[in-house]
Amino acid sequence: MKVKFMGAARTVTGSCYILETQGHRFAVDCGMHQGVEEIEKRDWDTDIYEPRRIEFFLITHAHIDHSGLLPVMVKKGFRGKIYATPPTRDLLEIMLLDSAHIQETEAQWKSKKRLRHGESRTQPLYTQEDARAVFPLFVDKKYNQPFEPIPGLKVNFQDAGHILGASVVELWVKESGKESKIVFSGDIGRPAQLLMEDPSQIRLADYLFLESTYGDRDHKDETQSLNELAEAISFSYARKEKVIIPSFAVERAQEVIYSLYLLSKDGRLPKDMPVYLDSPLAIQTTEIFRRYKEYLDESTREILQKGEDPLSLPQLRYSQTPQESMSLNGLKGPAIIISASGMAESGRIRHHLRHNLWREGASVVFVGFQALGTTGRKIVEGAKTVRLFNEEIAVKAKVYTINGFSAHAGQSQILDWLGHFQTRDMKVILIHGEYKAQQILAELIRKRLGCEVCIPDYLEEITLELGEKLRRVEFPEKAAPRIDWVFLLQDLEAKVAQLRGRTAQLEAKELAEQAQLRDRLLELNRDLSEIVSET
Ligand SMILES: [Zn+2]
Ligand SMILES: [Zn+2]
Repeated sequence: MKVKFMGAARTVTGSCYILETQGHRFAVDCGMHQGVEEIEKRDWDTDIYEPRRIEFFLITHAHIDHSGLLPVMVKKGFRGKIYATPPTRDLLEIMLLDSAHIQETEAQWKSKKRLRHGESRTQPLYTQEDARAVFPLFVDKKYNQPFEPIPGLKVNFQDAGHILGASVVELWVKESGKESKIVFSGDIGRPAQLLMEDPSQIRLADYLFLESTYGDRDHKDETQSLNELAEAISFSYARKEKVIIPSFAVERAQEVIYSLYLLSKDGRLPKDMPVYLDSPLAIQTTEIFRRYKEYLDESTREILQKGEDPLSLPQLRYSQTPQESMSLNGLKGPAIIISASGMAESGRIRHHLRHNLWREGASVVFVGFQALGTTGRKIVEGAKTVRLFNEEIAVKAKVYTINGFSAHAGQSQILDWLGHFQTRDMKVILIHGEYKAQQILAELIRKRLGCEVCIPDYLEEITLELGEKLRRVEFPEKAAPRIDWVFLLQDLEAKVAQLRGRTAQLEAKELAEQAQLRDRLLELNRDLSEIVSET
């Protein structure tokens, strides 16, 4: 059996693993690549997936970094089945449409700019129509309802405790008389997470494909996170400013509301502080959560049974239309605004950040993972300004990073989950993590469990043969595109030299114009100093 890593290899996004066995070819997940430009380019390079040759997809959960390229696959000729749990299917229907809408809006915006420059239009990666073409291919499979998509292959979904309907995928593959068991962790949930059950414990696997998002660190505990959220609220409430919470629409937004419900029961949420859920997607998601009560954890079900609703608050308001969202910009007085996207890369949250980030007394509360290169990551790492809608916005608001809300297991929780496996000689393949975090986790796994661990790279292939070491089949150039630093720096030096040769012309300019040029150069100089100090 062969596995090819189409994404989420030494990076977090783009989960997709194509497996080949006995003439069959299928894939686990089909995620979008997100983050820095080099990674996002991969979304446009999808012929290498050979979509027509993929027989079926197994989708672990509805997050876009695990499912967002399904419309591209269908557009390029994939016609097979897509297996997922019922809540995953329902969530995917709204999320893929939302993702398509974002693609369309971005393409429109880019096209306008390109047309002004006399260039041709930009096409969206996919449209809402492409997204709709995916829906008829879904096949529902509940947890613990094993099925055989092709002869010789058994599949079972188990609760991953990550988001509603998220699965760990167990695969039993028969090859030349021998059966091997492969487990894809999907994203493993944080135990004791609000709303979700703890991840299912699995005991056997020959090969484990393990997520490693937080391979290098643990989360703060939940009580501390709740306290920090309360602190942000009282900080901005006292200053009559807003609390802005960039949040994934799915799961996190519901968890944030649940947390506000807990704070409100404790008297730590001022009754006259309105809470706005400014995300149609989050509003629809909340409805889906209500539809699948049996997928929620026991304590949530108990609260629901008592007739209370932890997904609601007396002061909670939904803002559906763009007009409703825009009216929040002029809102006076303290308020909490929960909006998407969670990494502030797109969506309505960017407007709220533009209106509040520069205000002292406002707070921005990050409640999720911030990938490298995203606006969220820049703010979390202390950027003095960030670019929003072609404008540099000062970061004066108080920034909170509350990672106790994570839907991912932290380092020791991953190791605990791993501890339930009892198969000797299990091989661990680390996926879905940044390389640094993966190296740290790999070392811990080798030391504690003595397993063979490998960290594959983008487009790498490995063979899985029982009793054999993992064998790397191919390592294409594409996996590690190099940045030509020598050229880049020479070019920069040449430009500085040109300017040096033109000091007479510079001095001949009007004083005001000289001052302007000087300021631009000083700004460049500051940027350069920062880059030098970071390397
Ligand atoms: Zn996820
Ligand atoms: Zn993920």
